[in-house]
Amino acid sequence: IQSKLPDVGTTIFTVMSVLAAEHKAVNLGQGFPDFQMSDALTSLVDKAMKNGFNQYTHMNGYPLLRERLCEKAHKLYNASIDPETQVTVTPGGTYAIYTSLTTVLRPGDEVIVFEPAYDSYIPNIEINGATPVLIPLQFPDYSIPWDEVRAKVNGKTKMIMINTPHNPTGMVLREQDIEQLRSIVANTGILILSDEVYEHLIFDNIPHQSMLRYPDLMERSFVCFSFGKTYHCTGWKLGYCISSPALMKEFRKVHQFNCFSCDTPKQVAVAEYIRNEEAYLSLPSFLQQKRDLFRELMSATPFECIPSHGSYFECYSYRNFSDEPDKDLAIRLTKEYGIATIPMSAFYKHGQDNKVLRFCFAKKEETLRKAVEKLTTLR
Ligand code: PMP
Ligand code: GLN
Repeated sequence: IQSKLPDVGTTIFTVMSVLAAEHKAVNLGQGFPDFQMSDALTSLVDKAMKNGFNQYTHMNGYPLLRERLCEKAHKLYNASIDPETQVTVTPGGTYAIYTSLTTVLRPGDEVIVFEPAYDSYIPNIEINGATPVLIPLQFPDYSIPWDEVRAKVNGKTKMIMINTPHNPTGMVLREQDIEQLRSIVANTGILILSDEVYEHLIFDNIPHQSMLRYPDLMERSFVCFSFGKTYHCTGWKLGYCISSPALMKEFRKVHQFNCFSCDTPKQVAVAEYIRNEEAYLSLPSFLQQKRDLFRELMSATPFECIPSHGSYFECYSYRNFSDEPDKDLAIRLTKEYGIATIPMSAFYKHGQDNKVLRFCFAKKEETLRKAVEKLTTLR
């Protein structure tokens, strides 16, 4: 058959996790915690199943969960969101992003994407016949070059994709970025896809710049979230999308004939557990401690830190000790040093190699120590 995605291979996350397993390497590549999720939350799933919540729930998501998500959005971001018309529960954040793009993109549309970019974005745009307009984040702090965005916007620009906190770099948007974004989209029909799956993984006392805070941006946004990130259960593949009533109406037309509805007992459990605010309010300090420990451990290696302010990733440059391609180094570290990472070039459509690797620090202290120990002998 003629491929619809001729340039796409197997995602780097699968490639590196398979290699890590083959070589019994410590896996700091694909982003997932190696510590247990909350017992209280798994018990609530058990309870929901025993109480008979085992059939389809509402296609837009278990109603009580949607209500509580709106209460949370109000408390955290002062947002007035209607659970009936503006929230849809999805099988993960990736699906929420794909569905948002599929809802609005047509062949010929342009979508502004910042690189490095989470690896699903560009194929998601291309499979809809639209064109990604690639803008590199500014190395090494990975800030957005807003003048370049202004220069690239034209009549075909359908959407701007943002991701804060940012995977893979850990960059977070600031208030001045929101002002720039606002001035670019004002009086245009440009939509925003805001990937906020790491909303609670944000450090150094920086507030999360959610689109939910800004009614004028919200009315043109699809905002995507993931319970997998918030509750340490990436294998649950459960998330949600919040949008304006008009956009969400169209989103649901796509959703109803793709997934229809998501895992019922887990939605019932989260609807109860979400009232435990401490579970998410404690995340910044919990993960910042891990970031700080990891950074301190890494200072004994020849890698140079590119500081992360959010997500559970930190990137490191190796320009000062090697000029081998990042993919080669990532493979060599897995095979010879027993530690798997993600080569940053995987997040660029044209494989740009800045000699940077991404490390996931959402791991037990012993895992981080064991992993970095292996790197101290590196040269
Ligand atoms: N966006 C980004 C930036 C991510 O890192 C992830 C993590 N996989 C997702 C979306 C999707 O999350 P989920 O596992 O819920 O699909
Ligand atoms: N979001 C995770 C990461 O960036 C991986 C998700 C996936 O494997 N698709 O590592």
